[in-house]
Amino acid sequence: MLIERMVVGMLQSNCYLVACEDTKEGIIIDPGGDGPLILDRVKELGLTINYIVNTHGHIDHIAANRPVKEGTGAQLAIHQDDAEWLVTDQGSYARMLGVSSPGPAADVLLKEGDEILFGNESLEVIHTPGHSLGGISLVGDGVVFCGDTLFASGVGRVDLPGGSWEILMDSIKTRLFSLADDTTAYTGHGAPTTIGREKQSNPWFA
Ligand SMILES: [Zn+2]
Ligand SMILES: [Zn+2]
Repeated sequence: MLIERMVVGMLQSNCYLVACEDTKEGIIIDPGGDGPLILDRVKELGLTINYIVNTHGHIDHIAANRPVKEGTGAQLAIHQDDAEWLVTDQGSYARMLGVSSPGPAADVLLKEGDEILFGNESLEVIHTPGHSLGGISLVGDGVVFCGDTLFASGVGRVDLPGGSWEILMDSIKTRLFSLADDTTAYTGHGAPTTIGREKQSNPWFA
């Protein structure tokens, strides 16, 4: 599985291009800005994008949904409990980032257990709320894309609408920490980490 991390937008969000090496079909996780750069990279890699998947609905993860959707023709997917964010004006925060909000509505509403297929690869949707109501993580062979739920040495903020500290802790402890220790965690901001490293050294859990 090809995985490429691009740091995009003013809030330095991680956008991931994830693709099947055999068929070059792939998905884009969290196009949070810099749509033209994302589209250029898709073209350079020769990818066909089946889906744009938002790990959650915050503007710094969805800001380039429109240009990337228009440029790839991909279907836009988000958990059903965060779909409203896509069509809600995220106001001054969005304008600060220089994007017009709201963007396009979802084509596909995701839920726990769904499989996202691209070429010979797939990722499973697990519902990991707490940072937002409809936050998801995408689990593959030895990898998890966990949005803003967990970071290297940190966890997501819970002060935005739908946030809950108790639910966030539960999502991390019961869902993410049940993955194998050597699972690489590709987070919504910052460098990747592993589940084992966060269990051992994340100050919220160690
Ligand atoms: Zn967020
Ligand atoms: Zn974020």
